[in-house]
Amino acid sequence: MTTDERRGVAILGSTGSIGTAALRVLERQHSRFRVAALTAFNNAALLEEQAARFAPPFIGIVNNGAHESWRAGGQCLVEAATRDDVDVVLNAVVGAAGLEATLAALARGKRVALANKETLVMAGGLVTEACRAGAGEIVPVDSEHSAILQCITGRPDVEIQRIIITASGGPFRQWSAEQLEQATLADALRHPTWRMGRKITVDSATLANKALEVIEAHYLFNLPYDRIEVVVHPQSVVHSFVEFVDGSVLAQLGVPSMELPILYALTHPDRVPDSGVPRFDPVALSPLTFEPLRAEQFPAFALGVAAGRRGGVAPAVFNASNEAAVALFLDGRIRFSDIGVAIANSIDALADLPGDTRESILRADSAARRHVQEHFGC
Ligand code: NAD
Ligand code: MG
Repeated sequence: MTTDERRGVAILGSTGSIGTAALRVLERQHSRFRVAALTAFNNAALLEEQAARFAPPFIGIVNNGAHESWRAGGQCLVEAATRDDVDVVLNAVVGAAGLEATLAALARGKRVALANKETLVMAGGLVTEACRAGAGEIVPVDSEHSAILQCITGRPDVEIQRIIITASGGPFRQWSAEQLEQATLADALRHPTWRMGRKITVDSATLANKALEVIEAHYLFNLPYDRIEVVVHPQSVVHSFVEFVDGSVLAQLGVPSMELPILYALTHPDRVPDSGVPRFDPVALSPLTFEPLRAEQFPAFALGVAAGRRGGVAPAVFNASNEAAVALFLDGRIRFSDIGVAIANSIDALADLPGDTRESILRADSAARRHVQEHFGC
């Protein structure tokens, strides 16, 4: 009998935009990786197709009539993330639901390839502590953070002066305040450069996503907020910049595709050949332009960064109120501009709740969701 030397990967959220992109990468990289576990929320039909193609030993579904051999219920995420045959957990779940699996995987010393930025935002202290205590590893999947990691790998912290995260600006980059009052769900879902799940697509329209990414960077790279900046770059080709103490600036570039940062999160710090990543053509991608972020039109951005700076439960309140408000917007129950209002009200009411323990964070998360529901009478 031969032993399988390939690294085992669990994909949490395999039916989503990141999950399906990850499976395309793993199909090409089958000599290096095997699919050890797949989980989904309720898309049983797609999960079944994936199961037939990749034959993982573990399949979990949260909320659907399952096959006999599948694990059902919310606990399947932690089960998948902590299996002995799993080396890397790709957490591609959307929202706070991904928290327990990330903590459990890190506590077991796994690599977490983290797309699920919401959980690092809501509980950054807990996640980094679980990582330290369990000798785990967090490698970002988010393209901006992957770019930063690629630029700083091998360099000591003291050499890093500043990072500049790029933002596409979303579909409303040039819209006036009056136009934004009329923005519809269809408008918000029309992202100019990325095809993604609905929640992050709305976050990219409000720019809440960029605030989540600033907080994500703060925890991933242990950088104070004063040294994290954002610039709008509509082409999404420069994925972020790092300025070093000698004034030199490095950036990572590429055609907008999540397959490259997913692959890098699996292989970091190594690089491996991959035929599926689109080739770079600087002339075809020209011109590359940069402009300031119009914070006054996109209140969710400044509210989120301020919540990050405030610390305690404030980032959890920001994240949860945003998740709740985006869910209502996606349901057609509130307007686009209500999302920022909901976040502002929740932070005013709840961000001073004490503590940064797991219990206080989960309490603040629930309180913020209730607050948004009540605010809109839902
Ligand atoms: P998506 O909505 O397309 O997919 C979400 C996945 O999570 C699905 O497989 C779904 O079954 C699962 N899921 C949803 N709710 C769940 C729950 N309560 N419990 C367990 N599983 C659940 O979302 P996406 O665009 O793939 O984004 C996933 C994560 O990656 C988000 O945190 C997002 O911010 C981040 N991200 C996405 C992109 C992108 O290009 N799509 C880029 C950067 C970061
Ligand atoms: Mg991003």
